Amino acid sequence: MNFLSLLEAKRDGKTFTTDQVNQIIGDFTADKIPDYQMAALLMAIYFRGLDPRETRDWTLAMRDSGQTLRFPADPRPLVDKHSTGGVGDKVSLPLAPLLAELGFRVPMISGRGLGITGGTLDKLESIPGFQTNLTSDRIVEQVQSIGCVICGQTSEMAPADKRLYALRDVTGTVPSIPLITASILSKKLSEGIQALVLDVKYGRAAFMQTKEQARELADSMVNLGTECGVQVHALLNPMDVPLGRAAGKWVEVKESIDCLQGRGPDDLRDLVIECAAHLLVLTRKTPKIESARAHAADCLKSGAAYSRWRLMLEAQGANLSVFDEKLNQSPPAVELQSDRVGRITECNARIIGEVIRDLGGGRIDKDSVINHAIGLDQIAKPGERISKGSVFCRIHGLRDVPTSIRTTLLTAFAFSTD
Ligand code: URA
Repeated sequence: MNFLSLLEAKRDGKTFTTDQVNQIIGDFTADKIPDYQMAALLMAIYFRGLDPRETRDWTLAMRDSGQTLRFPADPRPLVDKHSTGGVGDKVSLPLAPLLAELGFRVPMISGRGLGITGGTLDKLESIPGFQTNLTSDRIVEQVQSIGCVICGQTSEMAPADKRLYALRDVTGTVPSIPLITASILSKKLSEGIQALVLDVKYGRAAFMQTKEQARELADSMVNLGTECGVQVHALLNPMDVPLGRAAGKWVEVKESIDCLQGRGPDDLRDLVIECAAHLLVLTRKTPKIESARAHAADCLKSGAAYSRWRLMLEAQGANLSVFDEKLNQSPPAVELQSDRVGRITECNARIIGEVIRDLGGGRIDKDSVINHAIGLDQIAKPGERISKGSVFCRIHGLRDVPTSIRTTLLTAFAFSTD
């Protein structure tokens, strides 16, 4: 194949055949296409796009660049959730054990954070001993025995996507709807799932800035997923304000435990329940969304999902008594206090995400080492009243908070004086 002529064809707005897509992904996976040429093709795709048939071919070729998880026959449907990411979005942590408790099998293959959005694997690695690198056999074994796993993509799962994503990340070609669709769905299809709920975020701390863009991405993933035999439902959710009241690695694990114990912030609990309820409906385990919500809420409240979480932790190497001890510690935190009186009108998730990242709680580049202790909790949210001395948030993981950080964090909060 002459790769240059394919590259020129896409540059000029032509459509690839299925064979051409298979050849591109196959040759790239086999190291027959240099990164500089692939980078040029990605940029051509960024501007020219892929039509729905090309996107399907691209997705399936990436799935088939590796292996799909194979599960034995079982009445429990295989399901998963994918979020396009946001600040404080810890939904996966309580959701996986809740779904297992509701009678699903959940092979939740998750990612790491880059930039301001926190990665599920990074959060879980703040739990002493917790292993996120599992083989395909172990993933299947654990899902069969416990009902859920949360771990990283294995080297056999969609390896073409892993390499392509790394290239997109450094060539400004991530925000392309067909490439995002193919990247996310190739991995989800490799899990061998039957149903998927998508949480597509929009707003100032999200990938997609507007609701229209988020809807376009959601439609693209729902249509393609359905065409590939997976029941898919997409939720569209704003990401202007952090989800819950904690953002950072360990503080988000703690808030997830609150949720699993029937406590914690309402917005987090509601989203966990919403995701679970849609999967109950998609797989026809529950006929109506209202009764599905009630069923999921009861299950969460009962504490059963928390017991399932502990089984998952143990199966993935965590020492539960060390975990409990860490949970019960209250390391000193620095309070950011108000010197005003009024009502909060804004809590800017982007500023909060950037502060956490810049303090070492997130990644600046792929080689950054994360400080799991860095984070904010007790974050005040819009609509709440403040008075002099009320706490906007608490800052964890630092003995002294530089004045510049305090000043920046204060700009995340806006007020009215009514
Ligand atoms: N997450 C992915 O896995 N792939 C993308 O392209 C974007 C977000």
